[in-house]
Amino acid sequence: MSRRSLIAANWKMNHTVAKATEFVVPLRAALPRLTPVDLAIFPSFFCVHALAEALKGTSVAVGAQDLHWETSGAFTGEVSGEMLKDAGATMVLVGHSERRHVMGESNEIVARKLSAALRDGLVPILCVGELLSERDAGNETTVVEKQLETAFHTLAAAVAAGVVIAYEPVWAIGTGRTASPHDAEAMHGSVRAWLHGRYGDVADEIRILYGGSVKPDNAAGLIAERNVDGFLIGGASLDPASYIAIAGAAVPR
Ligand code: PEP
Repeated sequence: MSRRSLIAANWKMNHTVAKATEFVVPLRAALPRLTPVDLAIFPSFFCVHALAEALKGTSVAVGAQDLHWETSGAFTGEVSGEMLKDAGATMVLVGHSERRHVMGESNEIVARKLSAALRDGLVPILCVGELLSERDAGNETTVVEKQLETAFHTLAAAVAAGVVIAYEPVWAIGTGRTASPHDAEAMHGSVRAWLHGRYGDVADEIRILYGGSVKPDNAAGLIAERNVDGFLIGGASLDPASYIAIAGAAVPR
C-alpha cells in the first residue's frame, strides 16, 4: 500500500507569532512543488491561531504540541482539545520525548492524551522511542512495544487507523546524531509488525514517521526506506528553507 508522506515540523518552544507568520511566505511559494506530500506545523500554543489563519486556503495542517485529557475544568495551565480546535488546530503531538522525559509523562498519561485527541477530533501523532541506555542494553524494541501497547490498549482498529506514529529515538533528538536508514527501518518494520499483530491490514494504513536530527542532507536516504512514511523534525524545521528542502526530498521522483 502506498502511504502519502507526512512532513511535520515541531517548533518546540521557538518562534513568536511574527516569526511564525513570516515563515508562511516562502512556504506558500514552495507549495506547488510539494503537493505530493502532506505538511503539518506544530508551533507553540500561542501561535496556533495566527498560523492557522496565515495558512488558510492551503492544505498545510496546524497542530499543537500537547493537550490535556479532560475537556474542561480546574486544570491550571492546561489546554483542552476543544480549545485547540477552536484555535484552528487539526492535529496534536502526544508523548513527545521531552514531555515523557523532561515533564515526566508516563505511558499511562500518554495513553489518556491519545484517547482524548481522538475523542476531540484531532489527528494525533503518537511519539515513541527509546533512551540510549535502553538501546545499549538491547531493549529498544521492548521499550517501544510497551509504549505502543499502553497507548493503543483501548483503541479499536477503526480508531487506531486515525493515529500517526513517530519513532523518535531519544538519543537522536536535538543531538545531531541520526539513526541510520537501516536502523530506522529496522524499528519502523518492527512497529509495523506489532500493528499487524494487533490490527491486521489496518496496520498498512498507519503512517510511521521518523524523528531525530533529520536534515536536508539525510532526509532522502531515510525516506527511501519502505516503512519510513515521513518525518517529525525539530531543529531543522525552524528555518523555512531547510523545512522546504526536507519536504522536497520526500516528493516521489
Ligand atoms: C523533535 O523534536 O521531535 C526532533 C526530532 O527534534 P530534532 O529534529 O531537532 O532532533
